[in-house]
Amino acid sequence: MARRAYVPSGKSDPGALPRLAVAAALAAVLGGLVLGFVSQWLSLLLIYPAALGAVIGGVGVSRVKSRHVRQPLAVALIGLGAGLLGETSLHLVKYARFRSELATMLNNNPGAAAYVEANGLDAAVDAALTEESATPPILGYLELAARNGVTITKAGHSSSSSKPTLTGVGVYALWVINFLIVCGIAVGMLVSEARKPFCEGCVGWYDATHPLAFGAGDSPTVKQAVLRLEGSQYAEAARNLGASDGKSATRLTLLGCAKCNAHEPLIELTRITGLKGNKPHEKKVFVSLISPSEAAQLRAATRPAPAS
Ligand SMILES: [Zn+2]
Repeated sequence: MARRAYVPSGKSDPGALPRLAVAAALAAVLGGLVLGFVSQWLSLLLIYPAALGAVIGGVGVSRVKSRHVRQPLAVALIGLGAGLLGETSLHLVKYARFRSELATMLNNNPGAAAYVEANGLDAAVDAALTEESATPPILGYLELAARNGVTITKAGHSSSSSKPTLTGVGVYALWVINFLIVCGIAVGMLVSEARKPFCEGCVGWYDATHPLAFGAGDSPTVKQAVLRLEGSQYAEAARNLGASDGKSATRLTLLGCAKCNAHEPLIELTRITGLKGNKPHEKKVFVSLISPSEAAQLRAATRPAPAS
């Protein structure tokens, strides 16, 4: 009903996007090279794309934060491009390694000696990869890699003794899944950072959390509180939260800019469950922008009574 979502302004500091793109691309290439290098000893199936995505996302997020990037779509595209770059550099490292292994094999193969003598080792490797068809050698390598398959073992280590788990189409599907994992993690991290609330007047992220009330976390109380908040009865919602039973709780806060009173803060109702266990779970059940005057009234109404 009366929920007003925060919408990013689509602005950023001058030159922020190109810098972000360069940083993400460097992280992607470097991450891809390192993982491609490590992959000769360890096959980090599904772990490596997650790591690569986290590296790209982590480097990107720090730039989004410091350069005040409020452009979710642009950062999503940058994350996608960096993911593609990272995966490509990883495959290129594997390709280079395979070529050098193949070159050693051809050098030791008397049957290939005449061809190597006449055309050079590099051309012999190309010829071995393309099998006399017109496709580029790298595609020949990818085909060969897919045909040879990928072995998935429980420990995540490759084992030469067992048969490959995936071959052909399965390997291509795995590459697509890896790419999606890299991009999913990188894009997710970047977009969620670029969507964080920002004070356009002070040019700074919302960084001040003002507690309004702490209360019961049972369903009827939460439902009632959400209804009041949707009806813009913020002070009533704060007053009627009740008391936590120690198992669940609710927290009502204002998130805003510490430097000014002209911005619209976010009122947030968070439900916390599993307080007795060792893994409490928090979920925001209501989030809305409120006007500066509403926020000022609310702060005054919920101020704790001065000790007498
Ligand atoms: Zn401000």
